[in-house]
Amino acid sequence: MIPDLPLDIESIKGFLAADEAQALYEHALQSCAAGPVLEIGSYCGKSTICLGLACQRKGSALFALDHHRGSEEHQLGEMFHDPELYDDTAAVMDSFREFRRNIRAAGLEDVVVPIVAGSELAARHWNTPLGMVFIDGGHSLEAALTDYRCWAPHVARGGVLAIHDLFADAHLGGQAPYAVYRMALASGLFESIDQVSSLGLLRRL
Ligand code: MG
Repeated sequence: MIPDLPLDIESIKGFLAADEAQALYEHALQSCAAGPVLEIGSYCGKSTICLGLACQRKGSALFALDHHRGSEEHQLGEMFHDPELYDDTAAVMDSFREFRRNIRAAGLEDVVVPIVAGSELAARHWNTPLGMVFIDGGHSLEAALTDYRCWAPHVARGGVLAIHDLFADAHLGGQAPYAVYRMALASGLFESIDQVSSLGLLRRL
């Protein structure tokens, strides 16, 4: 259990199993001494709250990167579209309002730094070594590769790279996160330290 959870984490919209939430919390707790934590793909803040509580406990900070316009599967007419997160007036997805509401309810406004932008733009001038990077953005190969190429180089030595939605069996889920995970291992820069359900955790050597 994540101690002192200020709200029912299951009430937050999102796709994160309880054991994965726990693992994110514990690895952030251990790695945020090496630098702040950054996640890609915050959506409504479910993983943000797990990582943020660890950062709060250690006096660190969490950068929460998401354009909040939804991934491919969240768009109107797609499988994971949520009408409550659709801005009818502007005809776009907008998960930022819900994200802010949840971060406030979790008491994490002084820990979480939202970055509302695309991954490549946000990374362009980034220069801070990160204790942990959690990749859970778009699941197209292009999006997953961009997230990996933009952010994996910023993981500090000894820091953790976490990748969500790893499915070795293509029948169980898309293959882009798994492709990026194997790429990280093949680079020789990371070693596997843990796997919890579909969450893979690697340490930067
Ligand atoms: Mg995910």
